Amino acid sequence: MVQDQSEQALREEVRGLCADWRSAGRYVPRADSWLRSPDLAFSKELAARGLIGLTWPAPYGRGLGYVHRLAVTEELLRAGAPVALHWIADRQIGPAILRHGNEQLQDEILPGIAAADVVFCLGLSEPGAGSDLASVRTRAVPDGDGFRITGRKIWTSGAHHATHAYVLARTTPRAEGARPHAGLSEFVVDMSAPGVEVSPIVDMTGEHHFNEVAFDDVPVAAHRLIGTRDDGWRQVTEQLAFERGGPERVLTTYPLLVQVLAEAEVADQAELGGFVARLAVLRRLCRHIAELLDSGAAPVQEAATCKLLGNAFERDVLELARRVAPTGPPALRAALSQSLLASPGFSLRGGASEVLLSMITKAEVAA
Ligand SMILES: Cc1cc2nc3c(=O)[nH]c(=O)nc-3n(C[C@H](O)[C@H](O)[C@H](O)COP(=O)(O)OP(=O)(O)OC[C@H]3O[C@@H](n4cnc5c(N)ncnc54)[C@H](O)[C@@H]3O)c2cc1C
Repeated sequence: MVQDQSEQALREEVRGLCADWRSAGRYVPRADSWLRSPDLAFSKELAARGLIGLTWPAPYGRGLGYVHRLAVTEELLRAGAPVALHWIADRQIGPAILRHGNEQLQDEILPGIAAADVVFCLGLSEPGAGSDLASVRTRAVPDGDGFRITGRKIWTSGAHHATHAYVLARTTPRAEGARPHAGLSEFVVDMSAPGVEVSPIVDMTGEHHFNEVAFDDVPVAAHRLIGTRDDGWRQVTEQLAFERGGPERVLTTYPLLVQVLAEAEVADQAELGGFVARLAVLRRLCRHIAELLDSGAAPVQEAATCKLLGNAFERDVLELARRVAPTGPPALRAALSQSLLASPGFSLRGGASEVLLSMITKAEVAA
């Protein structure tokens, strides 16, 4: 892959940082670290080095490209580093606020994200509104200058660590026969506001990373509306390009793949070559998406394609590891069982594979 010196320098910086932290025993690499490894000290270290909000213009960030961010995120994922606290805000909430938020909201939130002081969770899914996101029932009702939000969100990763929630809510009731996508709006909500209640959901790995979040008449100031009232759907679709098109859709199981490669004598060399080749193709796709983001586009279909193919790759890494593990060392078996338990979520989170397939096909047919 052709990279300029500044990208290479960022890669080396992140590799060095992760190696130092690992050798000092400050973290243990793991698969799925972007969702399951929160560590405020690590996020603060990245923030101090200007590695969060890298693509945002001054005064909020360094004004670098998405190709630069890709260099950083790939290295963090390869190292299985504890990045979960800032990942969502850096990846999609900051960019959404930059594209659509008013100046007051930008000034209020973006410096905090870049400093790792503001931690976001993502309030999209609801009981009954996951794949069918347009049917969210959480309501935001005008109240004085602002709004009051009432509803329930589910599968909210990291809500118990978050200072703020991004919330998709209905601002205009759905009219009979109207498209469900109309009348939705996006908000930034304080997790410490009266009426917010977080309840843990322990998943089958035994970890608490999911939550259910209830909003009961929660006050939200007018400037916390992101973009245009009732036009949230278009903005969400754009945001999903940021959510789906990054290397975390390819490299979730990379720390496990590295362990399998170390056992190369027990794995079929031709098969390993196939994995390396597929990884090269997927990295090329991630870079293409980063270049499109740098051009100001919202590569919605490309990002969906990346997630679809990346998830298939991650699943196949698990299958390979499953065959190699019985004759491998205990550390490989432990890493495999950790990844296997987390894996049912890979193709669901950020949009189920069947839904992405359908979305890509419909766009192709319409084109
Ligand atoms: C690890 C993980 C982390 C998550 N974190 C968050 C988070 O932080 N915030 C948040 O808001 N949400 C989060 N989610 C929720 C995630 O976005 C939803 O699980 C996902 O959108 C699917 O919705 P659902 O669970 O309601 O499944 P459903 O919508 O009920 O779908 C179940 C299955 O039905 C099939 N299906 C559904 N619709 C269609 C269709 N139109 N065509 C074909 N097949 C279909 C698919 O096979 C799908 O897998 C997370 C999920 C996971 C697994």
